[in-house]
Amino acid sequence: MGVAELTAWLRRCTELIDEHAGELTELDAAIGDADHGANMKRGFDAVAGVLDDGTFEDVAALAKKIGMTLVSSVGGASGPLYGTFFLRFASSAQGSDPLDVHSLLSALQAGVHGIEERGKAAIGQKTMLDAWVPALDAFQRAGTSLATAVREGARAATEGREATGPMEATKGRASYLGERSTGHIDPGAASTALLWQALAETLAR
Ligand code: ADP
Ligand code: MG
Ligand code: MG
Repeated sequence: MGVAELTAWLRRCTELIDEHAGELTELDAAIGDADHGANMKRGFDAVAGVLDDGTFEDVAALAKKIGMTLVSSVGGASGPLYGTFFLRFASSAQGSDPLDVHSLLSALQAGVHGIEERGKAAIGQKTMLDAWVPALDAFQRAGTSLATAVREGARAATEGREATGPMEATKGRASYLGERSTGHIDPGAASTALLWQALAETLAR
């Protein structure tokens, strides 16, 4: 993954978020405050603006700018979490451009650890981590073929999204509902599955 591939991934994320913003908001209406689609759309519209305006020296520079953009443009919990993902991804990618399958795995891992630290959450709490963590595991298990790794990652992210349905939320706004949060997919897990779908569509060619 070089600057061109990272750009293509982010552009595809923007398209998919735009297409699914209504769905993300509906999911958030059930167990949150009905703004996840709008939050993600605001963030990724700002990302598209960054891509339109700038040229970037390497993957790390672009990812850092994307992280800062998401943190500053999204009001909800998801902005700082996705922003932290890209900032940590950038730190890990520093000095390796283009990223091969190993350095991409390291950067994704660094990003997800950033989400865990920032949100003080772990898998099983009905958050975006329930899509991120299985996706990362599947990516790692897939081995050295980038195309297989991103496809398996995307598949696991979708399964992770579905698995949030029966969970009771113990982090984030949905945790205020306690048991009543069960029976609904977590909106952040749904947006994470879209990011993985975009990654697979971009890199599994
Ligand atoms: P807000 O809840 O502030 O309105 P959003 O609706 O944009 O923000 O995002 C909600 C999503 O953020 C949740 O569905 C969940 O996936 C994720 N989330 C919330 N809190 C945490 C946390 N502490 N750790 C990980 N993910 C979280
Ligand atoms: Mg919300
Ligand atoms: Mg909100």
